[in-house]
Amino acid sequence: MQHTTQVLKLLKTGSRLQRVASSSATVQKRICIIGAGPAGFYAAQYILKHLDDSQIDIVDKLPVPFGLVRFGVAPDHPEVKNVINTFTKTAENSRVRFIGNLSLGTDFTVEELRAKYHAVLLTYGAEKDRKLNIPNETLRNVISAREFVAWYNGLPGFENFSPDLSGNTLTILGQGNVAMDVARIVLSSVDELKKTDITEYALEALSRSKIKKVLLVGRRGPLQAAFTIKELREMLKLPNCCTTWRMNDFRNVAEALPELQRPKKRITELMLKSLSEQSTSPSSVGSFLPIFYRSPVKVIGSDRVHSVEYTINNLVDNRAVPTGQKESIETDLVCRSIGYISTNVDKDLNFDDHKGCISNVAGRVLKKSLTGSDQTIDDIEDKFEKGLYTSGWLATGPTGVILSTMNNSFGVADLICKDFHNNVVRVTEAKPGLELAGRQVVSWNGWKAIDKEERRRGADRGKPREKVVRLDEMLRIAEGK
Ligand code: NAP
Repeated sequence: MQHTTQVLKLLKTGSRLQRVASSSATVQKRICIIGAGPAGFYAAQYILKHLDDSQIDIVDKLPVPFGLVRFGVAPDHPEVKNVINTFTKTAENSRVRFIGNLSLGTDFTVEELRAKYHAVLLTYGAEKDRKLNIPNETLRNVISAREFVAWYNGLPGFENFSPDLSGNTLTILGQGNVAMDVARIVLSSVDELKKTDITEYALEALSRSKIKKVLLVGRRGPLQAAFTIKELREMLKLPNCCTTWRMNDFRNVAEALPELQRPKKRITELMLKSLSEQSTSPSSVGSFLPIFYRSPVKVIGSDRVHSVEYTINNLVDNRAVPTGQKESIETDLVCRSIGYISTNVDKDLNFDDHKGCISNVAGRVLKKSLTGSDQTIDDIEDKFEKGLYTSGWLATGPTGVILSTMNNSFGVADLICKDFHNNVVRVTEAKPGLELAGRQVVSWNGWKAIDKEERRRGADRGKPREKVVRLDEMLRIAEGK
């Protein structure tokens, strides 16, 4: 009866359309973000600000938030972790719910999510490491930077990793910033590291480390090195460590300087300055040796690694091309650091195995049969999975710093907001969100309990926090037991 009167009233005022619009505006727009790392939190921050009536669930497979900020950023870079303060503000907004310990692909599927939310944003990052696919890559003492970083940063499951640090030389294959992080942590003094949130077991192992020499091997030349100037400066200033370059690697480099863009020019000038100042009889305890134009072709050893065989490369059109000449360099431990790759956690996703990320255009996930280069379909509904998006390393591949991830996620979040505003994502009916009854999930308050306990343990040791590493312990603390 009441309903009939309302309709009549509306018809009388001639505002039926207005009425439909305003009733749909009151339906809460439910959005699920999978992955509580930087990509997920930045997207949530943007959506909260730009989409009224939105309610966001941020789901992570771990009981703790912050993804790569907690488990990837080096412990001696605390300033990079300050973004956690912004993420915390987002998580504590009444329109946001953090749900930890729930895993896409294990606890629920993408299709289930799409049925329960108006929009789903996948930001679960890149957690596998790329392989070289060379003989003996699985030999003892060949590890990956991913494992090493996960170990010192306390990612659950890596606490017993225990790399063999009993030899003199570590060879890192790859010259990105992850490789630099590993080199710096291994060559840093334990007295400095113990003021950071590095895990206690890693600190203990590093205090017994015999590694004095770290080789950082790249397949191309100094002008193509992937590390950035801040990371290089840190290495050059590292106390008790001497950086030694190979003179031959710098042929034609000074000549190229005038043509370089500013950031490349500055880092190249720094390398050249360091090269010109290098001492022939280094007196330091540790040594850092960047080596260029070498592609690893074989790990040599029987039980454990003894050396790595490389082809010597020339640079042709910016690519490393083997000359046919070889060089073997002895080592006690090898760490592969040639980039990360995402995993496909759901068979229904359009996943590009070659690139190691979800097939998407500007964050919209492409329909299963389509690829990003498919230009023939214009219609959004035919081309993209409705209401399904991706951002961060899962969408772009594993490149860029946190700022790049922020820009990418803000862009995708903007697209999501526009798709709601333009009715590309329709909000005709209420959506329930994930059903949590009977599941052991961790809420934001649960995380706060873990955080408090970590800080307390850290204070006892004179460090910012001592991370809880075991999943069962995290869950126990989150439940207040
Ligand atoms: P990255 O910067 O892409 O570096 C990968 C390195 O591996 C490059 O030197 C690359 O050489 C080499 N490589 C790749 N495939 C190879 C192969 N088959 N054989 C030999 N070498 C190979 O990756 P990342 O170090 O894993 O870092 C990922 C992203 O995180 C980067 O954007 C990085 O800047 C960022 N990050 C930033 C920080 C920081 O800001 N402090 C810390 C860690 C990571 P080519 O160049 O020849 O391909």
